[in-house]
Amino acid sequence: MNVTQLADQLRRDHLFMKDVTRWEVLPARKARTAPFPACMDERLKPALQRRGIHELYIHQVRSLEATAREEDVTVVTPTASGKTMCYNLPVLSAILKDEDARALYLFPTKALSADQVSELYEMIEEMGVDIKTYTYDGDTPAAARKAVRQAGHIVVTNPDMLHSGILPHHTKWVKLFENLKYIVIDEIHTYRGIFGSNLANVLRRLLRLCEFYGSHPRFILCSATIANPKELAETLIGRPVTLIDENGAPMGERHFVFYNPPVVNRQLGIRQGSVPITRTISGMLLKNGIQSITFARSRLTVEVLTKYLKDLVRDPLGNAGKVRGYRGGYLPGERREIERGLRSGQVDAVVSTNALELGIDIGALDACVMCGYPGTIASAWQQAGRAGRRQGTSIVFFIASSAAIDQYIVNHPDYLLHQSPENALLNPDNLYILLSHFKCAAFELPFEDGDRFGNAPGTEELLDYLSEEGILHHAEGRYHWSAEDFPASEISLRSAASENFIIIDITDPAHHRVVGEMDRFTAPMLLHENAIYMHEGRQFQVEKLDFDACKAFIRSVDVGYYTDADLNISLSLLDVEKEEPFAGTAAAALGEIKVTALVTMFKKIRFDTHETLGFGHVRLPETDMHTTAMWWTLPDELADKMAGDRLKNGMMGIANLLRIVCPLYLMCAPQDVAVVYQVRSPITNKPTVIIYDNCPGGIGLAQKAFSMKELLLSKALQVAEDCPCEYGCPSCTGPVGEIGEDGKRTAVRLLKELIR
Ligand SMILES: [Zn+2]
Repeated sequence: MNVTQLADQLRRDHLFMKDVTRWEVLPARKARTAPFPACMDERLKPALQRRGIHELYIHQVRSLEATAREEDVTVVTPTASGKTMCYNLPVLSAILKDEDARALYLFPTKALSADQVSELYEMIEEMGVDIKTYTYDGDTPAAARKAVRQAGHIVVTNPDMLHSGILPHHTKWVKLFENLKYIVIDEIHTYRGIFGSNLANVLRRLLRLCEFYGSHPRFILCSATIANPKELAETLIGRPVTLIDENGAPMGERHFVFYNPPVVNRQLGIRQGSVPITRTISGMLLKNGIQSITFARSRLTVEVLTKYLKDLVRDPLGNAGKVRGYRGGYLPGERREIERGLRSGQVDAVVSTNALELGIDIGALDACVMCGYPGTIASAWQQAGRAGRRQGTSIVFFIASSAAIDQYIVNHPDYLLHQSPENALLNPDNLYILLSHFKCAAFELPFEDGDRFGNAPGTEELLDYLSEEGILHHAEGRYHWSAEDFPASEISLRSAASENFIIIDITDPAHHRVVGEMDRFTAPMLLHENAIYMHEGRQFQVEKLDFDACKAFIRSVDVGYYTDADLNISLSLLDVEKEEPFAGTAAAALGEIKVTALVTMFKKIRFDTHETLGFGHVRLPETDMHTTAMWWTLPDELADKMAGDRLKNGMMGIANLLRIVCPLYLMCAPQDVAVVYQVRSPITNKPTVIIYDNCPGGIGLAQKAFSMKELLLSKALQVAEDCPCEYGCPSCTGPVGEIGEDGKRTAVRLLKELIR
């Protein structure tokens, strides 16, 4: 059965259709092309023509024309729209005209760079010219590095390698820095939050070195669809850009189906789970030979769904290679094999976390199933974009979980279909980050008095601070590096903690092998001792977690359950920046806090029925993070009047409402911001509701929340009042079982007092 036939069959199925809240058909789109522009080097034409390309898509032509006018450009294109041509054609044209010209390509991950440069190699081979393209990353052999530094026309790398492997060693890269013509940055929408704020500073360092060596490179940036590509690009590079956002690539018809699992207990507002429904729909696609990708939000759900789908197609060998799991933490070789299998059609179904949202080439698939809302409109469209051929019909299913934000989306499909996607926020002037990069920059080249660091504020104060700390030495109008260590090696671009945990399989005592890795913040949740760690549907038990050495030792097991850990968060105050009276006797404040996370116990949960089988204790050290927060303290007289649980239940209801409202109005992903309530807060000694940036140093979300503190509360009240439930449900204040019978009423009353 093909997609069109399956869609027709489902539309006649009344049992299925009664839970479909919207069936949207997105019409097919025709290609829009234009002839090769004059600014493109003549030698590229025959190479393109031999590949069957006789005209370019309009966005490719616009990119060539704008770069020829020496403008910095940002191209916004969906998946599979010939994006790489937007930068390969201008770069190749420039090098063909001037063989000394150099270009630097930055991709967010190693995997992506390998994938995206294959087209570049083919073009160069086709032309039979001597343009050397080299990848320079952690895998480049030491013997090859010298050749890359001296002879590479196009150097392909990632931000981490640029930061710690290239910029600090600029004296070995003179040829590159003297002749750098283009800096290409792909997937710029991934550079948000901490990672983006770091990259902006790495680019400030890069441009500072280029100026020293006398080159003036131009930028070509590419982004998936987000609300503010121009603003993001300009914040990243600190200069104005030309935006190219007309897409000329064709697309077949697409069906977008919104499905809300039926309510099984109306009183408690409990729905059938999204995982069993996803199992059914993905299973139906698999049985009909329709190639699909299923996205799940957590690594655990990915593994559980992979196991379910593998069980459906168990072959005599039992390896079921037609169904694969995919997520961060799988080793590169395994990931490449899965990607190839998808492109060649050997893999029929893949279950993935958002790891496959990025531009990794897996070809276009027929169908996409989203098990739960991925958190942002931009992510949802990237996931949906995995299904969609240039010709032929494709289908996307959105399966809502009972989470409030999922319920909001499935009941307001227009929010997803028509609202513009989120802003990508970053803050290059985050003080933690800025200070780190000042150190790196001073190590690379001394600062002169009066020097600027891109458009960063307070250069002189920061340099003086570093001098007082003994890290820099100020003499004769210059700030020199005077510490002993090498600053870049201590600074990770992606998180506050640099080390990952290594996962080692010790099932075979004669042959220990590394099977994956995990970041430091997640490891306590998933790799504590006695956790069941799942990898491609196979189960392992964690035998030992060596926290200091960052190693987890696992052994293959076969048990009927998985584990889920409880995370305890405690907060303490570092500094109050602003405090204002709010609603009479209440107050609102903005400041710095310390967040301490600790895993103390875990649950064992049975497959299929998802019932809890038992508990276990975990003994692990705490992890700390300093970040920015804003909070409301409740009016004293209200707090005094409410005894014990009543106040707690009302505050829990407010926190649950804010968890729905914050991502929507701060335009961020739910995991970027945390909402916590405390009946007697160690921060204020009063009942307090706290919103904080969920990354070290913050990216400005708490500041934004503080500036819209009235709006957030009135939107929270609106969600509660619009919801038809009487005593609270998962779509508003949380269910009765969590907040008690008076929870919703108390939350509404408290909110009205605060807004008054
Ligand atoms: Zn409700």
